[in-house]
Amino acid sequence: MHDILPEDQPYYERVYEVVDQVAKFYGFSRITTPVLELSELFEKGTGSSTDIVEKQMYSFKSKGGDSLALRPEFTPGIVRSYIQHGMINLPQPVKLFSVGPLFRYEHPQAGRYRQFHQFDLEAIGDSSPAIDAELIQIFYSILSDLGFRHLICEVNSIGDSKCRPYYKKLLSSFFRSRQHALCADCRRRMKVNPLRVLDCKEEKCQRVRSQAPQFVDHLCDECKKHFRSVLEFLDEADIPYHLDPHLVRGLDYYTKTVFEIYSDQHSPDALRQSAIVGGGRYDALVKLLGGKEAPASGGAGGVERIVSAMKESGRSPLKAREPKVYLAQLGDLPKRKSLKLLEEFRGAGILVAESLGRDSLKVQLARADKVGVEYTLILGQKEALEGSIVIRKMDTGKQEMVKMDNVVREMKKRVKR
Ligand code: AMP
Repeated sequence: MHDILPEDQPYYERVYEVVDQVAKFYGFSRITTPVLELSELFEKGTGSSTDIVEKQMYSFKSKGGDSLALRPEFTPGIVRSYIQHGMINLPQPVKLFSVGPLFRYEHPQAGRYRQFHQFDLEAIGDSSPAIDAELIQIFYSILSDLGFRHLICEVNSIGDSKCRPYYKKLLSSFFRSRQHALCADCRRRMKVNPLRVLDCKEEKCQRVRSQAPQFVDHLCDECKKHFRSVLEFLDEADIPYHLDPHLVRGLDYYTKTVFEIYSDQHSPDALRQSAIVGGGRYDALVKLLGGKEAPASGGAGGVERIVSAMKESGRSPLKAREPKVYLAQLGDLPKRKSLKLLEEFRGAGILVAESLGRDSLKVQLARADKVGVEYTLILGQKEALEGSIVIRKMDTGKQEMVKMDNVVREMKKRVKR
């Protein structure tokens, strides 16, 4: 788990700002769900045979005896909220987005943390392939607005309850015939859920995976039609994609479309490790978690990976607004008057730097110079008593006296905000 220090905050702010703009443009409303949920929600939703639940979940017993977990992903919590608040009665789809921290007990390494942040979008209550394509487009737009070029979307369809059992059977017998070539984890996974083997990052398992039967060849008619339609939407929108016939994603609830977005600045190997966004359709999850049937689709992007890519490529976040004015004060009464004056400037939308803890004018002027302001306001004891204040133009050193009551108006005329 890591601290996000002040110098990195502008990157995070920039990501959240773009997410907010794009998500709202597409009709998504923000939702905030608790960081803690019942462990059962993820065991049922994310799936108890997934790595996330099996190995990575921070779960514990509360003082009241409840089994709780720090959320390892957003979707189950948002679906729980959709059900709990009767959102099925709203016009569908209900489009929700969220940003915040998630927790997974991972092996920490570059781009992989135990506490990290995601932005997440969910469209619940619509079965149309258009929604899947819209989500992919939204994630593209967010990344493009953040300066990412050369993005590539890996897509696949993993079928539904009609066609998946048959494919799983095929996969099981394929892996059984090659179990000697799989890692120990996968030999076990193979029996519980053979799809998980496709998701293993071990090199030897990846080699086996490349020869495994492909889902696209075994989809039922409905899933085939859905997938074809998603791809047509992507073509029409000029979104570059690859068909990855073995992409399954590490979660149990996906049906039909699954996708991941990569930035192809990385080598293919690094590429696999460094998806920036992942998501897919989950038509059965709402019902599984106790709601009425509501087909849905969603995805999430990793903020830390975006921030580190922005830093690596020298992309700067939006420049923070710089103060144009510095307030220097000398003595007790000026200090006391300063607080009120700062609030007046804040109300007028003018950013003012200050160091109220300092007493010496020399130190304060040096500070004003360092901040690079155009004007310094000097409030001495005499001025405070008379209700006036000095405006000093920093480049020329020229000073003039104005009434305290007028200073905000005067500065409004001089500084461009
Ligand atoms: P997932 O929820 O596993 O599909 O992940 C979606 C995105 O979240 C990934 O593409 C990453 O960008 C990011 N992500 C997932 N796990 C981590 C982690 N442990 N540390 C940092 N980012 C992560």
